[in-house]
Amino acid sequence: MSRLVVISNRVATPTTGAAQAGGLAVAIQAALSERGGIWMGWSGKSTGDHEPGKPVFHEAGRITYALTDLSQTDLDEYYAGFANSVLWPLCHYRMDLTDYARKDMAGYFRVNRFFARQLQPLLQDDDLIWVQDYHLIPMAAELRQMGVKNRLGFFLHIPWPPPDVFFALPVYDTILRGLTAFDLLGFQTRFDAENFASCLEREGIGRALGDGRFEAYGHSFRVGVFPIGIDTAQFAKLAEEAIHKVSFRRIEKSFRERDLIVGVDRLDYSKGLTHRIEAFDKFIAANPAYQGRATLLQITPKSRSEVQQYSAMQRQVAELAGQVNGRHGTLDWVPIRYVNRSVNQAVLAGIYRMAQVGLVTPLRDGMNLVAKEYVAAQAPENPGVLVLSRFAGSARQLDGAIIVNPYDVEAVANAIAKALSMPLEARRERWESMMPHLLENDISKWCRDFLDALRQEGVAVS
Ligand code: UDP
Repeated sequence: MSRLVVISNRVATPTTGAAQAGGLAVAIQAALSERGGIWMGWSGKSTGDHEPGKPVFHEAGRITYALTDLSQTDLDEYYAGFANSVLWPLCHYRMDLTDYARKDMAGYFRVNRFFARQLQPLLQDDDLIWVQDYHLIPMAAELRQMGVKNRLGFFLHIPWPPPDVFFALPVYDTILRGLTAFDLLGFQTRFDAENFASCLEREGIGRALGDGRFEAYGHSFRVGVFPIGIDTAQFAKLAEEAIHKVSFRRIEKSFRERDLIVGVDRLDYSKGLTHRIEAFDKFIAANPAYQGRATLLQITPKSRSEVQQYSAMQRQVAELAGQVNGRHGTLDWVPIRYVNRSVNQAVLAGIYRMAQVGLVTPLRDGMNLVAKEYVAAQAPENPGVLVLSRFAGSARQLDGAIIVNPYDVEAVANAIAKALSMPLEARRERWESMMPHLLENDISKWCRDFLDALRQEGVAVS
């Protein structure tokens, strides 16, 4: 069996606790352990003004972790700059929030070349190479230039926008050329894959050859749809066990006799937090019976504070939550509990299970794992209801959710009311229509499906 080599911006090493590691890290570690291999990426550390040196290696069983530091300029230009101030907003359809600078674009390509140079001497001839996400689009082209002939796969965890959005990127052609240097490109949904194909076809850059194969820039490659899953069975188990944990029981006690609605999202403009708070505001105003009773617990760890758009949003969301609490709150009831810290998955699983409603309303999301986790955590005999944005990739699979348009805040307010008053039989019917799919299409299957497809690509380089 050929080895697996994974490259991602962040690497979950064995020292990352299991509760923090998340399903993706666990699945990748399992695939690496089975085949043996390397996981390379940024160490999470900055060298400041110094040029970064050689990677640091950690061995754990059959896995070699290769961690590379980056300089502060690298991080500013590659990570905060091009990846998170250009590609992220653009792929989430937010041309208005992109902050393009040639310097950052150059830094993005420089760091990718640096990663490729670090990786190339570690490779064996038949290694399967799997590159993760938008930070590392140029990796295949860089590795090919160095003479690497291995099979190269890429998975995009975030959405891919339609041509009219993507072509707003000044270097769209270079990015498309970089992507088409892979042998297999994986997207979250059929819509993302179709948008990508439209980008190739719109300007005659590439053409479909049938059966998911495309040809562009003189290279042929396959495009596939691989909706990412979670470790469903493990999540259900965590939720069931949470009830026995002291830390969780304290939280549970604080919500007794309340109707709980939960939202869990990194602080990111793609998550639709201000629209959601407005919807909750309207729900409370329109449903006096829930005044004093319903609470929105919004768990929102801060992220990417080094990017200007994120720090501005931090204030905006906190202010809005404060206004709603001021307007509706009473001496013994706070309508929105807004928490700006990260909660570990064992506790999160218990909170999902306790909440009558999971409110997941991103304006655009590649998949949204929180939606899947909420469903997996429900008690089969008394499940809660998921209210889910049609613009999350997971809406393609979770058809037992109440699907909403997050821009229509009145509709979301009505969906909250509908979810809270839904009879048990209807809740069970909806939950039973989703859970078997989640159990079958879990994160391990996602990993297997992608790697099987990559293996079938034959030996690369046309
Ligand atoms: N998460 C967590 N603790 C928190 C908030 C989020 O462990 O306090 C996890 C959550 O359980 C999920 C992931 O972070 O697994 C978020 O994934 P998702 O696809 O929903 O959004 P992303 O942050 O990747 O855009």
